[in-house]
Amino acid sequence: MLVKSIRTAVILLSLLFILIVAIAVFYLSLREHESLYSRYVQSDLTALSENMANDLVPLVNKPDHAFDIKKLLLSLDPYPHVRAAAIYDANWRQQELYLGQASIDADKRVHQPDMSAVASLGEGIHKQGDDLISIQLIGDPGYLNGYLVIVNDLQGPLTDSTHNLFLHVLPAALVLLLLVALAYYFIGNWWLSPLTRLSLFAQQVEKTKDYSLELPEAGQFEVAALTDNINAMMRVIREESEVNAEYVTLLEERRAEMEYMANYDVLTGLANRSRFRKLVDAAMARLDEHHRHVAIMYVDLDGFKVVNDALGHEVGDRLLELVAQRLQAIVPEDSTISRHGGDEFLVMIENCPDRSKLESLADMMVMGLMQKYLISTWEVRVSASIGIATTFDSGADGRNLIRNADVAMFNAKSLGKSRYCFFSSEMMIRHQRRLDIANFIEAGLKDGEFTVFYQQKNRADGSRVGAEALVRWNSKQLGFVSPAEFIPIAEQSGKISEITQWVVERVCADCRDVFQYVPGPFRVSINLSANDLKKFHMIGFIKGAFIKYGLPRGLVEFEVTEYSYLDNLDVANRFFREITAMGCKVSLDDFGTGYSSLSYLTKIPIDVIKIDKQFVDNIGLSPRDDALVVTIIDMARRLGMDLCAEGVETAEQCQFLHRHGCETFQGYLFHKPMTLADFRVVLGADGQKPA
Ligand code: C2E
Ligand code: CA
Ligand code: CA
Repeated sequence: MLVKSIRTAVILLSLLFILIVAIAVFYLSLREHESLYSRYVQSDLTALSENMANDLVPLVNKPDHAFDIKKLLLSLDPYPHVRAAAIYDANWRQQELYLGQASIDADKRVHQPDMSAVASLGEGIHKQGDDLISIQLIGDPGYLNGYLVIVNDLQGPLTDSTHNLFLHVLPAALVLLLLVALAYYFIGNWWLSPLTRLSLFAQQVEKTKDYSLELPEAGQFEVAALTDNINAMMRVIREESEVNAEYVTLLEERRAEMEYMANYDVLTGLANRSRFRKLVDAAMARLDEHHRHVAIMYVDLDGFKVVNDALGHEVGDRLLELVAQRLQAIVPEDSTISRHGGDEFLVMIENCPDRSKLESLADMMVMGLMQKYLISTWEVRVSASIGIATTFDSGADGRNLIRNADVAMFNAKSLGKSRYCFFSSEMMIRHQRRLDIANFIEAGLKDGEFTVFYQQKNRADGSRVGAEALVRWNSKQLGFVSPAEFIPIAEQSGKISEITQWVVERVCADCRDVFQYVPGPFRVSINLSANDLKKFHMIGFIKGAFIKYGLPRGLVEFEVTEYSYLDNLDVANRFFREITAMGCKVSLDDFGTGYSSLSYLTKIPIDVIKIDKQFVDNIGLSPRDDALVVTIIDMARRLGMDLCAEGVETAEQCQFLHRHGCETFQGYLFHKPMTLADFRVVLGADGQKPA
């Protein structure tokens, strides 16, 4: 666009208006001038005609005065615009004609005006074409001597006069116009330049995004108000943008935090599971390029839970931090360490060295992590089980690699912890079997694949005092699975309570049908896992089953292991108290194989200690083994607990135990576990409802 600013537009428009007005004024004054001039010429002509007509009165119609008349007419010579003058007699016969300067053109040619029709015009001034024609009576109308006709050029002098006017007025008018334009320009500039400044200011703000800018006070009227308003608006924008900036910073911090939390473990600052997965995948993608191999080491702490439970979560957290630091110090610099939650760490060694180097690294890790940790006043010890999988044995799939390292770690745990294992395909087969077992338990319980066997408990003389319910599983898919295999898997996969409930229900039914008729004292024991004690509904379920099957008090007893109360003494104690209140006894199973924290024995209501089979097996092997068994028996008696020896296979074992005070025995020497049907045969009439 030609006009870029409002200021220029306003000034140009104003000048245009001034020009139009000036032209209009000029035009009107020209018209006025014309009419004034023609009136002036008319009155002049009238006066001239009257004078001359008066002077002619004594001269016309007198033949001897022809010269005087000519002389008189020649007196018109000083009037440059008189084209012609003629004298007529009363009958309109021309007596004399005079041609003035105005009828002679530049080439000295004479143009006589047409005077043929003057007689018809009558007295007075007439306009004809460019001329004014004056017709004047000579003498009184009553005594008329003739007529005087003067033809006067009107247009010529008018043009001249207008021309003169132009010449005189135009320069002054132009100067005036210029002055007005200049004045307008300067005043317009003065008033309107703030608008230009506003526009420049807006452009500057847009370009710099600097909202702290302020417009200097300037301008008049609305422009001044506009400046104020814009400054006020800028203040609001500034305040808003400051608030916005704070929000943006806050959001930015949040985003960074979220990103950190999405990728890192907050406690140790190590990469977390998802970031580790991404890094492993990226390493896998690079495998082909560099023809290198990747190893994953799955590190799981042994005994972390005990530390955490016994010393508190703060110590546990600190321990994890220290473990992370030790790992960082041990592994090569270019490896990636991550925490997978809990007490599991994963290490990726991208430039995988040969197996022997991996072995020595794993050794260093096992040794390094088992050194004592000093946390506040505690000296804490844990160890680590490590599973190692490499792309040599697991292929180039990140998921597989991690899973295989996990499987190898599990293998290291089951081999006795505090060691490392390399992944092998056989481990995968065992892993798959564990998965199958865990997966088929539920369906097996529904499809009636489980049964309960009973193994008698006897006195030394062979009389029966009870039986232990031992679950059996004959799976359609897996065949016979030993409880020693599937019970630990059920415990780890959270399926043990379903088995326990099924066993409780089954045993209660068998008690109602058979065992309640066996002459007492006779107790049927049910094994409980540590997890069962933590299930709040379990005690309710047991109570419900007792009521449902109408069992007499004291018929059922429960066997628990040391792990049950090690986990949470309060929870276990609450459970034991409820059990005891129902008239059931509590046996401590596998005594001596767990942590054997003897102080617990006084803190929980235990009725019977079951001496584990491994002690019974060792009877007669050495005086020290014998002494150990004797000590256990002695301790139990002093604590007022009953004793039951498990896995008694020989008469010697039985005699030794009996001699030192153990009164109840369970083992192949007496009976193997058997079906209820077989048990009924053994019981004979003892298992029948009295007639
Ligand atoms: P446990 O409670 O210590 O059970 C005793 C185990 O020793 C039984 O093995 C029994 O068959 C075996 N046994 C008894 N006397 C002898 C003997 O003289 N010689 C030998 N070699 N073995 C003997 P089983 O039935 O295979 O059970 C293994 C473990 O499975 C049990 O050990 C128990 O911990 C668990 N278990 C069995 N049934 C259940 C159950 O219903 N619930 C729970 N939670 N655990 C169960
Ligand atoms: Ca048992
Ligand atoms: Ca046992």
